[in-house]
Amino acid sequence: MHEECGVFGVWAPGQDVARMTCFGLQALQHRGQESAGIAVGDGRTVRVKKDLGLVTQVFDEPSLAALEGSAAIGHVRYSTSGSKEDGRMASQPHRAAIDDVPFALAHNGTLTNTEALRQRLDEQGASLLAGTDSEIATQIIARTTLQTHHLREGIAAAMDQMQGAYAMVVCTAEALYAFRDPFGLRPLCLGKLPDGQGWVVSSETCGLDIVGAAFAREVAPGEILRISAEGLASCQGTPAAPRASCIFEYVYFARPDSTIDGQNVYGARQSCGRLLAQEAPVEADLVLGVPDSGVPAALGFAQESGIPYADGIVKNRYVGRTFIQPTQEMRQLGIRLKLNPLPDVISGQRLVVIDDSVVRGNTSRKLVAMLRAAGAKEVHLRITSPEILWPCYYGIDTDTREQLIAANKTVEEMRQWMGADSLAFLSLEGLRKAVSGVEHPGFCDACFTGRYPV
Ligand code: SF4
Repeated sequence: MHEECGVFGVWAPGQDVARMTCFGLQALQHRGQESAGIAVGDGRTVRVKKDLGLVTQVFDEPSLAALEGSAAIGHVRYSTSGSKEDGRMASQPHRAAIDDVPFALAHNGTLTNTEALRQRLDEQGASLLAGTDSEIATQIIARTTLQTHHLREGIAAAMDQMQGAYAMVVCTAEALYAFRDPFGLRPLCLGKLPDGQGWVVSSETCGLDIVGAAFAREVAPGEILRISAEGLASCQGTPAAPRASCIFEYVYFARPDSTIDGQNVYGARQSCGRLLAQEAPVEADLVLGVPDSGVPAALGFAQESGIPYADGIVKNRYVGRTFIQPTQEMRQLGIRLKLNPLPDVISGQRLVVIDDSVVRGNTSRKLVAMLRAAGAKEVHLRITSPEILWPCYYGIDTDTREQLIAANKTVEEMRQWMGADSLAFLSLEGLRKAVSGVEHPGFCDACFTGRYPV
């Protein structure tokens, strides 16, 4: 499972908004590594720089120095489909104009009625470059604003047309906008810079922390924020629907130092581990976490079970999605490119290994084989989420049902195929209990239950 994007925005006249956005995007880099982009509004126009690569590959001192202004938005993108050229076209922010007045948009999520919107735009003679849902949203907003004459009304009218998941930021020459789908599927929060310097919006609170902004509140589902020299203004762009925030953010996508809707992600993962130890106890010598998201859960499992925690798997941190691709021979090393076991720690030991999720099962199978080759006596897999049975249509890159191992095999069949001594998943009730610090009761859990909110 891969998160497909992170968004960031800042309104701070007199500050280096491009540099702040660059740092915000680095804090959100885990949400997308294929492309990065920043748009800046300088009072007269909106300039965009974007390209394929990590944030630090796309931006350097000269490119940031050329982006002066009062408002900025930024985007990091993950994508699996399409060639590099398609990826370049699809990179964000997208720039468009309303009666020659420019604006730029960045989007996290996926629209579910893209085809209908595309058809509408085709009929109106719009020419699309990438054809992605985010570019379509940009064009829809440009057209609705032409009719309503005000960008905020145009965004509200577009929100009534767009279905699915969206947390969006828009930058004009003079203002920053942030808005969110009526279900609140993807996260988006607001922060305040010190000494009245301005405001920041970010997919996660870790993006606020890095620029010294204090968390103010979540952007509410269906809400539109407008931040400009006139201050911060809020309106309800479209009525809020029954709340359905993505529960998987706590399991895997979000950074552990982020807090979403009042629940810290690290704390939720630790609770998942504790509850797993209650639901599926096992006799073992050591608890190991698969880095990074499995580690807090492994600590929780160790605390609850009394089995000691050990660092038995080391992550190769700097093997990312870069332009430097491994050779075919290196690819055959598979999981070894990213994770390496510590034989001195695990040899002869009965291990409980905590991981966040099972999608196709290939990684778990290779992990078990790798740990056995490093001398593990027993390998008991414990997963901090329920079985993934359904694809996600809300901004997460998942496989089809046919490819999801849990949709096609029983737990015992999966255990045998992975070669583990035992295998257990956290129940949905357990996962909901682990995130009980959340201030609202509404979650999307469609990838586990098939109950799609949209
Ligand atoms: S289907 Fe799963 S991954 Fe997608 S939004 Fe819902 S909970 Fe999150």
